[in-house]
Amino acid sequence: GTARTLTARVAPLGARLVLALIEDRTREKRVEAVRRDFVANVSHELKTPVGAIRLLAEAVNDASDDPEAVQRFAGRMLTESDRLSKLVQQIIELSRLQGHDPLEKPVMVDLDTAVATAVDTSAMEAVAKEITVESRGEHGLEVFGSQEQIGAAVSNLVANAVAYSGNGSRVVVTTRSEGDQVQISVVDQGIGIPAEDIDRIFERFYRVDPARHRSTGGTGLGLSIVKHVAATHGGDISVWSVQGQGSTFTLTLPRNSSPEHGSGSTPVEV
Ligand code: ADP
Repeated sequence: GTARTLTARVAPLGARLVLALIEDRTREKRVEAVRRDFVANVSHELKTPVGAIRLLAEAVNDASDDPEAVQRFAGRMLTESDRLSKLVQQIIELSRLQGHDPLEKPVMVDLDTAVATAVDTSAMEAVAKEITVESRGEHGLEVFGSQEQIGAAVSNLVANAVAYSGNGSRVVVTTRSEGDQVQISVVDQGIGIPAEDIDRIFERFYRVDPARHRSTGGTGLGLSIVKHVAATHGGDISVWSVQGQGSTFTLTLPRNSSPEHGSGSTPVEV
């Protein structure tokens, strides 16, 4: 910030070095604390589906003379193991993003491809709920970074829009450029987010309604992945929502600018 730049300008070289070292140590400690916290959360989150699968396996074992019950328990085992594998996949993705150099080989990322991939990824869920997913806006926009990460971020936003919307509603993905930035907005007509939760939804494992999650299969990690991707690309994610009416998530990224010159490879905490 301004204060830091000012200090750096007036302080002699020795003082500047000491300041830089202190800043480094503080950041190191903070990153370490965030990691520890993450590991504790991860073990808790993993134990839930693993415990459920174990109980269900016991139930199947005990109910071997009741085929209907066996089928019911087996169905729930499937749901729980799907949840577990999604959780593991997202945890791996998140820890990769928390690594020191998430953008090793930045490339030109084509937003049309990212949006098309995101729409395809949610197509099955959308069809099942008769939700129309439409993409609009400017074509041919590019940003500098990771195609995989940006694709994953947009996919998470579209998947949420579909998951938290009612049957027959509409999801619109809009891409536009504004000055040296590009914006990808995902607008839904879904359940919306209560005002008291809105500041926390980007935290790892945070869910507005954990009970509902058992049925929707959410992990609470999607938006923290989006936030990480935004930060590693020098961008930002914002949300606007009215409960009962819908939500708008907007991912803003620097257009065509090299992340090496921005806050690019700094590990971020969410
Ligand atoms: P999850 O896997 O639970 O969807 P996310 O990190 O993607 O995890 O989202 C965190 C929480 O934010 C969700 O549990 C949900 O309560 C809320 N949320 C996210 N996107 C939307 C949306 N489009 N509409 C309503 N609520 C949403």
